[in-house]
Amino acid sequence: MLLETDTISQLDIAQIRSDFPILNEVVNGKQLVYFDNAATTQKPRQVLDALAGYYEHTNANIHRGIHHLAEKATAEFEASRRRIQKFMNARLPEEVIFTYGTTDGINLVAQTYGRAFLKEGDEIIISTMEHHSNIVPWQMLCEEKGCVLRIIPINDAGELLMDEYEKMLSEKTKFVSVVHVSNALGTINPVAQIIEKAHAVGAKVLIDGAQASSHIDIDVQALDCDFYAFSLHKLYGPTGVGVLYGKEEVLNAMPPWRGGGEMIKEVTFEKTTFNELPYKFEAGTPNIADVVASKTAVEYLEKLGKEAVADYENYLLEYATDALSSIEGLRIVGTAAEKISVISFFMDGIHHQDIGVLLDQQGIAIRTGHHCTQPLMQRFGIPGTSRASFAVYNTTEEIDRLVSGLLKVKKMLG
Ligand code: PLP
Repeated sequence: MLLETDTISQLDIAQIRSDFPILNEVVNGKQLVYFDNAATTQKPRQVLDALAGYYEHTNANIHRGIHHLAEKATAEFEASRRRIQKFMNARLPEEVIFTYGTTDGINLVAQTYGRAFLKEGDEIIISTMEHHSNIVPWQMLCEEKGCVLRIIPINDAGELLMDEYEKMLSEKTKFVSVVHVSNALGTINPVAQIIEKAHAVGAKVLIDGAQASSHIDIDVQALDCDFYAFSLHKLYGPTGVGVLYGKEEVLNAMPPWRGGGEMIKEVTFEKTTFNELPYKFEAGTPNIADVVASKTAVEYLEKLGKEAVADYENYLLEYATDALSSIEGLRIVGTAAEKISVISFFMDGIHHQDIGVLLDQQGIAIRTGHHCTQPLMQRFGIPGTSRASFAVYNTTEEIDRLVSGLLKVKKMLG
């Protein structure tokens, strides 16, 4: 079937859709429309095959065995690390630490770098639009160490007030941790500028790339960030795998976090010496199968071409913004000049949860609520929004279904 959108993009969207078996699901009698991609993307057949293939032909524990399967599993696991190193242009594979997700990576930095190097009175800067996973670990650290959390404000469009950020920076600033792309608003933040200004006062910087990694080219060397965290499940890969990039010298200076197997060099009851990077931060048996399948996910996205994918998603964003704006009483929250394909909105007099339930009855999956950004919702004076977020397999036909779905909701409850 040729889709209208096939003629717009250089990508073969119908072919791409056929890679994602879940898109054939029927929900409440209708073909599924999946617009909850900012929460997690669906997985292509290639990733599902890589997962099953690992368990069918390779499964063994890594780094320890000398038998055939153990060596094969180790080789596949380390090949994934090198592939992801290339994906984010890290200087060394040792700078790529496998975690369980973005949240895990940020906690690792707060609990190791933060506990070792931050002290009472030091300032940590985050922003108003952070996900809870880039707020709470820093609050916990501040509580323990007596550090001060400072918050970059935003304007009504959902853009950081960079002047205010610059005013906040001083010799007291020891750490800056900001989101690359907001999950609730879609705003793309000027992270290169944020990093440069933070480094000028000697602060280290972590970028939360959970939403950026599938939409934007990530080059950690060009950005010059000290840490970059993301989750593979938002990038067409499996759940339970994240990546924490850290500069080699910074990671080497940090104490380990979780103790156990793999992260040690030698253990006696008197003293333990720790392993080298990256293993120092990878205690215990990791999520081997999902790490291996993550390589396939990255390759899938890169084969499509990140630029072509971004162009197509931007086209969907513009189409949806125009279409949703035509609905009377619907207001879009997050209208930054630079944004990815996320639209948060609310409708006059209709609770976001009712919108979500009634769309679900029509087979349309969106996200409703505070999107793990309660302070951001407080900034806008709202309890939550409805959010549609688009991925490369979505189409304008699906957006048309969303619009007619919302018109139905309005007729029933508006
Ligand atoms: N940061 C942002 C901006 C996110 O959107 C999310 C998840 O939605 C996270 C962090 C946490 O990611 P995870 O749950 O994969 O650890």
